[in-house]
Amino acid sequence: MEQDTDKKSLDFIRTIITEDITSNKNEGRVATRFPPEPNGYLHIGHAKSICLNFGVAEEFGGSCNLRFDDTNPTKEDTEFVESIMEDVKWLGFNWDGLYYASDYFQNLYEFAVQLIKNGKAYVDSLSSEEIRQYRGTLSEPGKESPFSNRSVEENLELFEKMKNGEFEEGAYVLRAKVDMASGNLNMRDPIMYRILKQHHHRTGDTWNIYPMYDFAHGQSDSIEKITHSLCTLEFEDHRPLYNWFVEQLGIYAPRQIEFARLNLTYTVLSKRKLMQLVRDNHVSGWDDPRMPTISGLRRRGYTAAAIRNFCEKIGVTKHDSVTEVALLEHSLRDDLNKTALRVMGVLNPLKIVITNYPEDSSEELDAINNPEDESAGKRKVPFSKELYIERDDFMEDPPKKFYRLSPGREVRFRYAYFITCNEVIKDEEGNVIELHCTYDPETKGGNSPDGRKVKATIHWVSAKHALKREVKLYDRLFTEPDPEHNKEGKDFIELLNPESLKVLDNCYLEPSLAEAKPGENYQFERIGYFTVDSMSYKNGEQVFNRTVTLRDAWAKVKGR
Ligand code: ATP
Ligand code: MG
Repeated sequence: MEQDTDKKSLDFIRTIITEDITSNKNEGRVATRFPPEPNGYLHIGHAKSICLNFGVAEEFGGSCNLRFDDTNPTKEDTEFVESIMEDVKWLGFNWDGLYYASDYFQNLYEFAVQLIKNGKAYVDSLSSEEIRQYRGTLSEPGKESPFSNRSVEENLELFEKMKNGEFEEGAYVLRAKVDMASGNLNMRDPIMYRILKQHHHRTGDTWNIYPMYDFAHGQSDSIEKITHSLCTLEFEDHRPLYNWFVEQLGIYAPRQIEFARLNLTYTVLSKRKLMQLVRDNHVSGWDDPRMPTISGLRRRGYTAAAIRNFCEKIGVTKHDSVTEVALLEHSLRDDLNKTALRVMGVLNPLKIVITNYPEDSSEELDAINNPEDESAGKRKVPFSKELYIERDDFMEDPPKKFYRLSPGREVRFRYAYFITCNEVIKDEEGNVIELHCTYDPETKGGNSPDGRKVKATIHWVSAKHALKREVKLYDRLFTEPDPEHNKEGKDFIELLNPESLKVLDNCYLEPSLAEAKPGENYQFERIGYFTVDSMSYKNGEQVFNRTVTLRDAWAKVKGR
């Protein structure tokens, strides 16, 4: 687990940027960009990149663009573009420029023509299989393509025809003429353009050729005058090519810096794998509350502040590691503890009848909204003769350390009274169905004037006032910490946790929750944090999602 404990010490990227500013490189200007490919929804790994790029721009008085890296028309869609914009905004960031790599298709085409004219690019007729064979391996140099010495005129003509759609897909590619013997495979005459007769979500059918990532990314950065192009470590081997293109073209040269991607336990962070979960209905959608997507986390009840704090805590480094999801949950609890309103809700109800409480009567008791935040104020909670408590808070035959309700025992009902259990009512099979209790009217508010003590305080709701709601409990999506690299070599799909979703349809919540809305966070006292699901309703009523438990129950189960 990576943790940047000393907040004042700059990470390696901020150190580089500080040095560049000091040496007046780029006239002291700082410009970054976040460049998602719109081929899926953003996940928590992207949040790390967003917080870094936008954070750096903010801290150094620079700018940060949002650029859609939409060079592959087969996988991209406007649905993804829209969700990405929504997620970046929700995380609390505003982009300076909004761009699409497809905005630059004409520029990129002209750059390609320039390289052809300079003898630095050629049209190849080898098939993709032949190109792979000619490329060689890490231990063997590659072989020149027999087509690498075409004349500039022939290359220009063929490239023009590729562009005009005169050839079938796969018939030709445009390659950069770099070095087939390079120790870096990316430098062995990489493909710049391929023929794709595909409809693009923005440029429609204008183009029959599309640039490869390596030919598009650096030039897009250059056009936008990005000073520091921050990307993940897998692009380290692409940096020489990134630099080669901008150098050959003689255009503004941004500096690419790589950092380690975020890996998180008990989930997968790859759009392709997340797409598979959605497509094969293992989850209800990209925004399923169990998904590590920003939209899933939001629907689950995560706050943007919690995600930003998490990203700050993990920091950025140059070596890969795996972060415990418990750290993300810790950031979440930290934030919710300060901000969530406290309420009472009973998930697994047991009925209580207060036998000495007047029939048809009720009263409103004062309850504190958030002990961590006085300004959150107070509310009224109704109390009456029939209540629900959590089944777990009663034991007929309690072991030594169980201080909650049991026959003959007196406990405090939060904000209400001291209550004693006198009689246990059972059905024919011997299941406890109801408790008959008495209350001490002198203990209103939860304290006894005679100084009598009780050992436990439990939550409750008034039966006739309560809202009956469905509540969804979520657990880890996978049973293994690293579902992609498990010991048995199983496919990650086999490691889905069959118990990741539990639906409770007989929950009773205090009436103040009638107005609760998605995006508002509540602490159900003693149980956990909850929010209203933004997508589902049961009988036209709210459904609640458990965002996170109060403590890490999983660690206990795992004996860690
Ligand atoms: P995926 O494999 O999930 O599709 P990607 O890297 O292909 O991820 P992009 O849309 O290309 O996704 O990523 C946009 C930016 O977010 C890139 O700069 C990428 O390096 C960064 N990014 C993606 N995943 C992570 C991660 N797990 N941690 C940190 N940054 C990430
Ligand atoms: Mg990608």
